[in-house]
Amino acid sequence: MTDEYDLIIVGGGLVGSSLAIALDGLPLRVALIEAVGDQARIASSAGDRALAVSWGSAQILDQLRIWRGAGSSAVPIKHIHVSDRGFFGKTRLSAQHEGVEALGYVISARDLEKETCRVLAQTSVDKICPADVISVTTGHENVHVSIKEGGVSKVMSARLLVGADGSDSVVRRCLEIAQHRKDYGQVAVVCEVETSRPNCSTAYERFTATGPLAMLPTGKRKSAVVWTLTPDDAEEKMVLPEAAFREALQNAFGYWLGQLKLVSRRVSFPLQRIRAVKMAAEHVVLIGNASHQVHPIGGQGLNLGLRDVAVLAEMLLHQTGFALDIGEKTFLDKFAKSRKADLDEVMGFTDTMVRIFSNTHAPLSLSRSLGLTALDLWGGARSVLARRAMGLKTRLPRFV
Ligand SMILES: Cc1cc2nc3c(=O)[nH]c(=O)nc-3n(C[C@H](O)[C@H](O)[C@H](O)COP(=O)(O)OP(=O)(O)OC[C@H]3O[C@@H](n4cnc5c(N)ncnc54)[C@H](O)[C@@H]3O)c2cc1C
Repeated sequence: MTDEYDLIIVGGGLVGSSLAIALDGLPLRVALIEAVGDQARIASSAGDRALAVSWGSAQILDQLRIWRGAGSSAVPIKHIHVSDRGFFGKTRLSAQHEGVEALGYVISARDLEKETCRVLAQTSVDKICPADVISVTTGHENVHVSIKEGGVSKVMSARLLVGADGSDSVVRRCLEIAQHRKDYGQVAVVCEVETSRPNCSTAYERFTATGPLAMLPTGKRKSAVVWTLTPDDAEEKMVLPEAAFREALQNAFGYWLGQLKLVSRRVSFPLQRIRAVKMAAEHVVLIGNASHQVHPIGGQGLNLGLRDVAVLAEMLLHQTGFALDIGEKTFLDKFAKSRKADLDEVMGFTDTMVRIFSNTHAPLSLSRSLGLTALDLWGGARSVLARRAMGLKTRLPRFV
């Protein structure tokens, strides 16, 4: 027996679940297959990471009814402060200067996931969870997905399969879609600190000898730390006694926020850049981390994934409105083409930031410092940077 759908989404992370919610109301029978149960997801240490959600992404989440609940636990970013440890250069961006309420928001992945699960449960999408996708094969008319749910195997088929199953995507592997993978040789150590001075809704990005260190506001005197380190250094910092860790962090960040006090566990994430060579194949598209994974330096990974969702949802709305085939290759290629410029730009920009700001070569550090100072003095360039941080560098889909 084969369960037939119009569209199957593999992966119910933030990106796959957002797409499922976006499609609710379209004349499509939609299934979402997710390996991890809701309770296990909420308990996972990966939920500790703080996400910087751009202003544009908050608009997308608002359309999806997710922001109404999640937004209350989000903290606005009113200022962004970029500086270089040991050098004079710095740049400041401000929401007021850009004429907006906030440049973006900070929310814990866990809070956003909880609200996404809650909204998804109110839709007519068939959520098959916990269930593992084992294999994917494409035929002329349909795509077939073999899954295992509670030890029972079954086959499902659809006109279109969306692979939103993260950076180790089974969908991508089954279809033998190659990927460019770059190991940055860096690990992000994530935790939360209390600060003796208020952060005034400021996100700090500080460039240190080991790599970038971000402090994102999570409360008046609370900030989420994303500290990029070499793997050896990260391993050491993960097991340092609390007082020694605090001192090392204070030393790297300085006293912009006064005394720091660790108030959470430490969690580490290896950092890689991944890009599938194509986003579309016969009856299949890849979105979110299944297609592209970026360094967290600019806080862009989820933001890119949400823009994949918004563009795909808008195109599917059009396709179904005219009773056109949603699995048609030319349609899927059109989607991939429409995402290319945004992906090229964000991935290129993020990579350049990692290269420039992870380099301790003295002449480069000096140029970098001069660059930050010039940027601070030049309002036009600052606004371009602010629009990028707000997720407005590319046109927001009409869906928003
Ligand atoms: C330290 C850190 C900080 C970050 N900060 C930011 C930030 O500030 N701003 C930002 O925009 N982004 C940030 N990101 C990136 C962001 O977290 C990711 O881009 C985003 O969560 C990716 O979502 P996704 O749904 O595409 O993938 P995932 O979250 O990986 O979800 C994939 C889902 O697919 C499921 N799955 C996998 N295989 C199968 C299978 N075979 N069968 C069924 N289900 C399967 C998994 O269980 C999972 O639920 C950060 C990342 C890190 C590591």
